[in-house]
Amino acid sequence: MSDPNIGGKLLLHACCAPCAEYPVYDLLSGGVTPDVIYYNPNIHPRYEFERRREQLVKLGQIYDLKCFYSEDFRMGDWLSKSWEGKFDSRCDMCYFIRMDYVARFAKEHGYDAFTTSLLVSPYQQHDKIRMMASDAAQKYGVRFAYTDWRPNFRKGQDMAREHGLYRQKYCGCIYSLEDSKFREKIVRDFPASWEDER
Ligand code: SF4
Repeated sequence: MSDPNIGGKLLLHACCAPCAEYPVYDLLSGGVTPDVIYYNPNIHPRYEFERRREQLVKLGQIYDLKCFYSEDFRMGDWLSKSWEGKFDSRCDMCYFIRMDYVARFAKEHGYDAFTTSLLVSPYQQHDKIRMMASDAAQKYGVRFAYTDWRPNFRKGQDMAREHGLYRQKYCGCIYSLEDSKFREKIVRDFPASWEDER
């Protein structure tokens, strides 16, 4: 269950539609209607970035939510390994970029608090996300509304399946794609997109 003290205007960062579905459902059940932001420059290649964004449009329509969509796409940062010397890992950079942007956006657009659908996934580094979001909240003077949604991860995935939302098979960045079984399919189905960006 989400933080009962959320109150005010809440911005929910959506890493993708299937992960956002349970947090949206939970917040609405608790009487909080969040606005949603798609800010995921870590998703590669561009075809996949756009596909996940389209799914968020669908989710926004299903629940009648106000959604924001960022065009920021940073495959170059990942290919050049720009985290080296600044962060311990690419995932640290990935969480930092997203939580920092969302906290600043929340502050600049008059939200009282923000949260993220990353908190639903048992496959993400939950404690690190919590720490980075808390740091970003402090930096910009906005509240981070923490909820551990992981116990309902499967329920959220089932809801997304019932709504016909595309459920991706890799985390998002080019390295997670290369480590997955999905790479060959994307290269085969979208060769132009793949070659243009490398
Ligand atoms: S594996 Fe996932 S969290 Fe880590 S850098 Fe890639 S997209 Fe980001």
